Amino acid sequence: MYQYHLQAAKVVDHHLHVNNKRRADETEAENQEQYLTHYEPLLIEKWALRLLKANKSRTIISTEPIARMDVEDAVCEICCDPGTREEHTEQGNSPTTDMYQCSVCNRTYHWSCLKQLQFYKEEDRINIDAQSDWSCPACHDLSLDEKEARSHASQHELLKVTWRPTWEPKELLQSWASFWQMIQIYEAKQIAPPLDEGLDNLERQGFRTSIIHSRWKST
Ligand SMILES: [Zn+2]
Ligand SMILES: [Zn+2]
Repeated sequence: MYQYHLQAAKVVDHHLHVNNKRRADETEAENQEQYLTHYEPLLIEKWALRLLKANKSRTIISTEPIARMDVEDAVCEICCDPGTREEHTEQGNSPTTDMYQCSVCNRTYHWSCLKQLQFYKEEDRINIDAQSDWSCPACHDLSLDEKEARSHASQHELLKVTWRPTWEPKELLQSWASFWQMIQIYEAKQIAPPLDEGLDNLERQGFRTSIIHSRWKST
């Protein structure tokens, strides 16, 4: 999987969900603030679709195949993290990505993760950097035919999944950064004064109409 969590793309509405189903041990009905949330498409491996469909709380709108090499923010296949593990190159100047992409299956790997699993030693890196067609440990020993088949398969292993917007409880903002951000944007829009298009520029800056008129008239 490329993203473990759905990313909130936009919050479009807000309401108070009134819970009428009162349990016997509750003295008050629990009302809950909720936000209607749209999501960024989720990238998944094809085999995982079955698992997503089993989740009845979310409705899939569409699934579209996407080639692995077209994925921009691919994660490391070992640790599932898309971020860099190294801030700078060994030489200490420009920031670098330490993510290596397999020329056969197009999967990506951190150098440090490959090393940790003992596929490589640090001294191997200079050779890998010099190769234009590095292949990952899973592809390295395949025959030419097998490589071709695997390369072809990588064009069809992923799906881009879109979801129907759902009402999400406000409490989630504590643990869901993109949801929190989208609520901020939504609420900023709610309190912003409407733009008065009838005003001219000076009036919009706070000049009173009477001042503007007397100025221009007296000159
Ligand atoms: Zn990694
Ligand atoms: Zn590979």
